[in-house]
Amino acid sequence: QEFVHASEIIFEDVSFSYRQDEPILRALSFRVPIGKHVAIVGPTGSGKSTIIRLLCRLYEPQKGKILLDGIDIRALPLSVLRHRLGVVLQDTFICSGNVAMNLRLNAQITNAQILKTCQSLGISPFLNSLSKGLETELRERGGNLSSGERQLLSVARVAIRNPSVLVMDEATASMDPSTEATLQRDLESLLDQRTAIVIAHRLATIEAADQILVLKQGKLVEAGTHVEL
Ligand code: ATP
Ligand code: MG
Repeated sequence: QEFVHASEIIFEDVSFSYRQDEPILRALSFRVPIGKHVAIVGPTGSGKSTIIRLLCRLYEPQKGKILLDGIDIRALPLSVLRHRLGVVLQDTFICSGNVAMNLRLNAQITNAQILKTCQSLGISPFLNSLSKGLETELRERGGNLSSGERQLLSVARVAIRNPSVLVMDEATASMDPSTEATLQRDLESLLDQRTAIVIAHRLATIEAADQILVLKQGKLVEAGTHVEL
């Protein structure tokens, strides 16, 4: 696999509201150094997923800026920005079709390349466990997969794109221990050498993070390592 150039992310005094007079993020500033992993925790509705939406430029902050390797993301073509970010969302988008189609989406990647990347990252056990491997048919919205399995698929989907930044909104649903263990292993290899922002719900993620940011009502109220907090 080619070398991954990791990136630095900076949120600088970012304020945002979906609607007027309803601030969701308030003067939010933080930095994710190259290759480091930041976990964001906070109560439901505190604005965690909104941070990801702003980073992907689904919305724009009314105030402040977001920098990727020192460049304001507004100055980057969307295609470049989204090529650099590998995004795993809470609810993985699954379309009817086989696993290979779901992993590849619109990218020009052969089945052999998918398998090679997943193998090198150690992500293949899940794919191998499927009755027909990459040819396994999935139902629309992934009805025949558990929530944990959908996240595994999503992690593989991101891995084959080899992004410099991993952005993840962890599923809140609990997983069976074996899926959880597989996910943990897959994430460890995917996170290696990459910069990451993870909205964390699992203790394993929080413990492994270089820094934990605690968000409350759109404000950063605490920051530190698991041991410090
Ligand atoms: P959870 O832990 O439940 O996923 P969260 O911290 O990710 O919560 P966000 O999804 O960032 O929370 O939402 C923050 C606030 O913004 C919530 O009050 C939510 O209702 C509101 N919100 C989210 N999306 C929109 C939208 N598209 N339009 C208006 N308000 C929204
Ligand atoms: Mg959320």
